[in-house]
Amino acid sequence: METSEVLDAVIVGGGLAGTSAGWDLRDRNVLLLEASDRIGGRLKSEARGDNWLNWGGHVFSGPGSVTDRLLTETGTAAKQVGGRLASVSLNGKTITSGGIETFPFRLPIPFNARVSLITTGLRLRYAVIQYGRVAKPIPGEDPAVRQLRILKFMEDRTFADFLGKVPEDVDLLFGATVTRSSGETNEVAAGYGIGYFHQVWDRAAGLSRNILGGSARFPAAMAAGLGDRIRLGAAVTSVEQDRDRVRVRWTENGTEREAVAKHAIVATQAHVTRRIVGGLPDETAGALDQIKYGPYVVGAFLTGETTPMPWDPLYALATPRRSFSMMFNIGNVRRTGEQHRAPGGSLMVYAAANLARSMASLSDEEVAARFRQDLAEIYPVSRDVIKETVIHRWAHGTAYPRPGRSRLQPALEKPLGRIHLAGDYLGTWYTETAISTGAAAAKRVRGAL
Ligand SMILES: Cc1cc2nc3c(=O)[nH]c(=O)nc-3n(C[C@H](O)[C@H](O)[C@H](O)COP(=O)(O)OP(=O)(O)OC[C@H]3O[C@@H](n4cnc5c(N)ncnc54)[C@H](O)[C@@H]3O)c2cc1C
Repeated sequence: METSEVLDAVIVGGGLAGTSAGWDLRDRNVLLLEASDRIGGRLKSEARGDNWLNWGGHVFSGPGSVTDRLLTETGTAAKQVGGRLASVSLNGKTITSGGIETFPFRLPIPFNARVSLITTGLRLRYAVIQYGRVAKPIPGEDPAVRQLRILKFMEDRTFADFLGKVPEDVDLLFGATVTRSSGETNEVAAGYGIGYFHQVWDRAAGLSRNILGGSARFPAAMAAGLGDRIRLGAAVTSVEQDRDRVRVRWTENGTEREAVAKHAIVATQAHVTRRIVGGLPDETAGALDQIKYGPYVVGAFLTGETTPMPWDPLYALATPRRSFSMMFNIGNVRRTGEQHRAPGGSLMVYAAANLARSMASLSDEEVAARFRQDLAEIYPVSRDVIKETVIHRWAHGTAYPRPGRSRLQPALEKPLGRIHLAGDYLGTWYTETAISTGAAAAKRVRGAL
């Protein structure tokens, strides 16, 4: 037995969901168990002087969100993304200015692709407007009701079905954005894919804030509220409840340990939750089994330039037909409002879904070389300024809704007595879902104590 006392709650998992639950319960007798050697989960960044490298989540929800509340409470500095969100580099041409409606006329693509891009783009625009209406919060509404409405939006088909048969360039262009979810266009629900364009085209509506100094600062700030009540290297093996208590077992430095608590908040990814929580109702276990994650291979580059760079004005660049499908100018947030351009910067690229799978047999050095080569073909100057490259692979990147996903929601939200689930897989807003489900679990626990 780890401790003879009965804890108020054990929190399993030190990602955003677990740390936000921990932050909200920091005045209670809680213990947070994290299997890896760091806090943050899929938020991973490392400082390099005034810059930082980033490998995981990087844009966060804005004013009015649960994220916003916790950023404020923890004193974590965040800033609106300044750079352009919709830019594209295709077939040798990089477009980082002008309206997206001008892209079909400016991209070097065949005539039939141009026509298709216009017509498909119009259809998508209309669908994005519909999505915006569906996703709009209704004052006083239970967030779970809104979430279900979003999940149900165009979930009867995949995004590829929505696109229909289109020329390859068009397919790849839209695919670069949709695979940001780590799912292929023929896997993700159409409505969910459309939600991505809603985020990219309407910055006020979506994930539009960066954390100064790197994303990892945010979970670290919440974890600081728990101090030494966090155990790293503590891999939980089982969470079992009886009528009065929850028993949590874990392995730490090769030793089996156990704690007893009134409640447990399980904030691990769906497949881990399925494995470690005992006695799950069949429908909840089945729903967890059906949550799908896709992979990413991420490259983070530290740059050492002393003059302005061509990527300075943009934040996100879609890069179809490259070894990575997106590039993010992580250093962009430092540029907002600066009088003189500070030296250095940071870029992040990633291959997602099948493109990431295709790199499984490559070493990190080979991946880094491919990424750098492609980056240099888009921006030759990158060759001269990259000072450091670090590759990171995520086997379970993000949980993407597939057609019919809304049908799993009641089973995922089913009350489980003294065990409370949290994590981004419970909804569609990534970091915001992770944080809001962690906060909601903490609220339930506090109410029951
Ligand atoms: C490349 C990439 C880019 C992304 N970009 C964005 C973005 O820009 N904006 C956005 O909103 N979202 C983004 N996301 C998604 C975002 O990072 C996640 O939604 C969010 O971080 C998930 O938080 P979580 O707490 O639910 O899960 P996790 O962060 O996965 O936390 C789960 C934790 O549980 C721990 N754990 C696992 N097993 C055990 C065990 N047995 N015992 C104890 N602990 C265990 C894990 O180590 C981990 O720390 C991105 C993700 C990736 C991979």
